Amino acid sequence: VVIGVLRSPDPTERRVPLVPDVAKKLRAQGAELVMQRGASAGASIPEGDYPEVTWVDTEQEVTARANMLWTVGPLAPDTLKSLQPGTVVIGLLQPYGSAERAQALAGGRITSFAMELLPRISRAQSMDILSSQGACSGYQCVLIAAAFSPKFFPMLTYAAGTIRPARVLVIGAGVAGLQAIATARRLGAMVEGYDVRPETREQVESLGAKFVDTGVSAAGTGGYARELTEDEKRQQAERLGKAVAMADVLITTAAVPGKKAPLIITDAMVRGMKAGAVVVDMAAETGGNVSGTVPNQEVQVGGVRIIGPVNLPSNMPVSSSEMFARNLFNFIGPFIKDGVLTLDDTDEVLTGATFTANGEVKHAGVKQVLG
Ligand code: NAD
Repeated sequence: VVIGVLRSPDPTERRVPLVPDVAKKLRAQGAELVMQRGASAGASIPEGDYPEVTWVDTEQEVTARANMLWTVGPLAPDTLKSLQPGTVVIGLLQPYGSAERAQALAGGRITSFAMELLPRISRAQSMDILSSQGACSGYQCVLIAAAFSPKFFPMLTYAAGTIRPARVLVIGAGVAGLQAIATARRLGAMVEGYDVRPETREQVESLGAKFVDTGVSAAGTGGYARELTEDEKRQQAERLGKAVAMADVLITTAAVPGKKAPLIITDAMVRGMKAGAVVVDMAAETGGNVSGTVPNQEVQVGGVRIIGPVNLPSNMPVSSSEMFARNLFNFIGPFIKDGVLTLDDTDEVLTGATFTANGEVKHAGVKQVLG
């Protein structure tokens, strides 16, 4: 197998899906590696740090040699057209994002694995890119909030007395939310957490935060949440309103796979917040959890600042790339022996993450969303 890595088609993407340590392991398993010059520049990894890799100048030189591509995000449409049938593509391919892209992959007879589709079972934890990158995002949200906050996060005692700690509310206690809670706690804030899945109470409390109980419970399938009914939304808004009004910092991370992010914080709730409060809406890219969020911008609503960051893992590309590459290696590495890739179609993790194969979109949930 020849594994190729292209320069990201997205100029703002700084992550690289293959790091030197992982290149070494792949080479030891007999894989050949070819990368396009510049692919690791965003992550500040010099090409010389990859002695196992052949570096080439152009995309064509990569795609002509490689029969497997590792990528952070979806490939450009022109790249897809140029791939040989049977090429394997692995990365965060945004499977729910575009029917055209799904068709291009299927029509080109590309075997693609979208890491968003990875089954959330114990065995797959070491391969879970949504989790590793979610941890980066949750951490980054808190750093952004702390930088914008007009208050200290920790309680501070100084010569003239004591400064009270900031109150941070984190909505959505999945991987990113729990990392945000842990990070805000490390900075010394008073933290509250909220999620619709009842099992998150214990997880929130184990990090030293208080759980906000709204009485709404909406566990879905596969460890994910389901969408709320209108009645549940009303009940949630009522009970959450109080916690939101008291917060100095609000961080929202709520998501439902394949769906637009749930709108949880209404305009009235934002306007009910304290002057100087800071909101970081991690769901900005998928529609936002907060009314008024604009992706990649900072907006002022009354006395409140709402920040809608996008692609947070790319802000810390050294760590996020390392995590990403290890996840990919754990996913596909076991199927490479003596330089030969043998995909096992009875493996539930491989089949679960299959986006397209044999000329069609394979994943049932994706087919349903794309129609
Ligand atoms: P996610 O990114 O899909 O969603 C983020 C959070 O938003 C979730 O906790 C969800 O419950 C919450 N949410 C959705 N709608 C909401 C609403 N209206 N109000 C408040 N919160 C809402 O989730 P995720 O972080 O990718 O993962 C969810 C869970 O999956 C994890 O917490 C974990 O239990 C499980 N998981 C398992 C594995 C594994 O076993 N391999 C790996 C990763 C995650």
